[in-house]
Amino acid sequence: MTITSTKIWLSSPHMGEKEQHYVQEAFDTNWVAPLGPNVNAFEGSIENYLDNGVSVAALSSGTAAIHLGLILLGVSSGDEVLCQSFTFSASANPICHLGATPIFVDSEKDTWNISPVLLKCAIEDRIRKGKKPKAIIAVHLYGMPYKVKEVRDIAEFYGIPVLEDSAEALGSTFGGEKCGSFGDVGVLSFNGNKIITTSGGGALVSKKKEYKDKAIFLATQARDNAPHYQHSSVGYNYRMSNILAGIGRGQMEVLDDRVAARRANFEYYKEKLGHITAFEFLEEMPEMYSNRWLSCILTPSIQIREKIRLALQEVEIESRPLWKPMHMQPVFEACDRYVDGTSEELFEKGLCLPSGSNLQREDLDRVVEVILKTMTK
Ligand SMILES: *Cc1c(COP(=O)(O)O)cnc(C)c1O
Repeated sequence: MTITSTKIWLSSPHMGEKEQHYVQEAFDTNWVAPLGPNVNAFEGSIENYLDNGVSVAALSSGTAAIHLGLILLGVSSGDEVLCQSFTFSASANPICHLGATPIFVDSEKDTWNISPVLLKCAIEDRIRKGKKPKAIIAVHLYGMPYKVKEVRDIAEFYGIPVLEDSAEALGSTFGGEKCGSFGDVGVLSFNGNKIITTSGGGALVSKKKEYKDKAIFLATQARDNAPHYQHSSVGYNYRMSNILAGIGRGQMEVLDDRVAARRANFEYYKEKLGHITAFEFLEEMPEMYSNRWLSCILTPSIQIREKIRLALQEVEIESRPLWKPMHMQPVFEACDRYVDGTSEELFEKGLCLPSGSNLQREDLDRVVEVILKTMTK
């Protein structure tokens, strides 16, 4: 059966040649379990790719990786965790799973990521109020690196560990080094909409090998070393399936192509829409290289953003407003925040355009045509 659809998606999966081979291998050898050769090989290929001497634990999701990462950094009930407000809710939810409290920090205009200035204010204010934050969650949103050096310097000055949410930034670099390898703990996601996917999955990254070992221990129900099932701590069922890791192995082989294709999407949109002075594109700062997971434009107003989004929707093209900041979410209403309006404005004016690595030139032209028409109407 062939399915024909003209719908253009925001970011859809893009399989390479080898994924089914590795999945078949898992069936042929009966490694149909949350461990096995594909899991080990997938971890090895990510370790090679990120370099920097990191160790990687493949897990069931990026959210699970953030949860375990916070545990490794010592976060527990009653603690406060500083978190970039402009992000997907999965960055913040695991703070709550642990009974800790998220405190939100706004973004800066340069990168759309956590503002080093506000981060410093927030840390000093929390310390003044009597509680030093237990961890900082910084996010490379849409694949654009946050200011890695500034954030690291601040974190080191105050002695607070950084959880680097690199769920959207596999393939991005800062100072020539790969995103995901900077934090005390780094996190990757292989959800269906990410730059590469295992359908669902994630990974915890660290330069500390003992963090990988501890993450795998916790992710497999925290079993003590005994012939029977014996437990001295609370565990989780967070390990990645050997079937899905087979998809991941294949996807790692095409990652560089996927990054190149997404970057080309962004360049094409800029080429075709850049003359509209009302639009703004997020440019890379020195030392930064974005995988351009999603191509985004800033429009002059929420009205124009909605006009474009609805015009695209009318002809089966999916686009989406930028992430709604966490400090504006009903669920986090009661949380303290250090904000200056930057992410609220990005949310109002910004739109994510179709960005998949499998989009054809005709697809991009369809998107561009609708936007140009809307802007001249
Ligand atoms: C996708 C995503 C996550 C969560 O990853 P899952 O694998 O979907 O659990 C976390 N943070 C950010 C910024 C994301 O985009």
